Amino acid sequence: MSNPTLELSGIVKNYNAGRENEVQVLRQIDLTVGEGEVVALVAPSGAGKSTLLHIAGLLDTADTGTVKIAGQNMTGLSDHKRTVIRREDVGFIYQFHHLLPEFTALENIALPQLSNGVAGALAAERGLDLLTRVGVAHRADHRPAALSGGEQQRVAFCRALANAPRLLLADEPTGNLDPGTSDQVFGALMELVRGTGLSAVIATHNLELAARMDRKLRLQNGILVAL
Ligand code: ADP
Repeated sequence: MSNPTLELSGIVKNYNAGRENEVQVLRQIDLTVGEGEVVALVAPSGAGKSTLLHIAGLLDTADTGTVKIAGQNMTGLSDHKRTVIRREDVGFIYQFHHLLPEFTALENIALPQLSNGVAGALAAERGLDLLTRVGVAHRADHRPAALSGGEQQRVAFCRALANAPRLLLADEPTGNLDPGTSDQVFGALMELVRGTGLSAVIATHNLELAARMDRKLRLQNGILVAL
């Protein structure tokens, strides 16, 4: 059997440890995400979901505990190795699109591929394929400012998948959109994830969206509880 895409074991994270303003954010996080599995992370604001996603995606480190991606233990790896794994194996999506304003939609998706050594024509081909999957190929040559909020976010999904990561981490990916748009854009994200066989952890406040994933977990008091 292949390794799980993500394994978090005994993750603990405190801020300002030992000081009077200490915050115990993650007390004991154990999470295994299998290949192709999509997990909903439901948490009220301030519960620590961004902290959890950043630790899982190697943007932050835990005080204790281990992170494994595709069976490889990330503890003790050099910063350089962690950066390479983050760039190649992990895709991030945030509430805000963070697209580069001076580049077109297609260029925004091609750029991360070019920095990974992919040739220009191939990067554009993959970019167009991704844009087609989320229904915005006709907007490929537009800059972000000329796109609607839903379109900007669809392009951001494509950028996150540009380098074909194993794991997608999304922090309220449709949280900035109005409810009707959010529903459609979320549908596009799920199709993209299912169509590429990606594993994902997707944080959302929305229980209806959470119900469309394989498994729901609530983050509360620093631990994960099945919903
Ligand atoms: P969420 O994403 O669920 O809203 P966060 O992971 O951003 O929550 O934050 C969890 C808690 O940790 C909050 O109480 C926040 O104030 C605190 N926190 C986050 N980052 C820091 C930091 N760098 N220093 C101190 N406290 C922090």
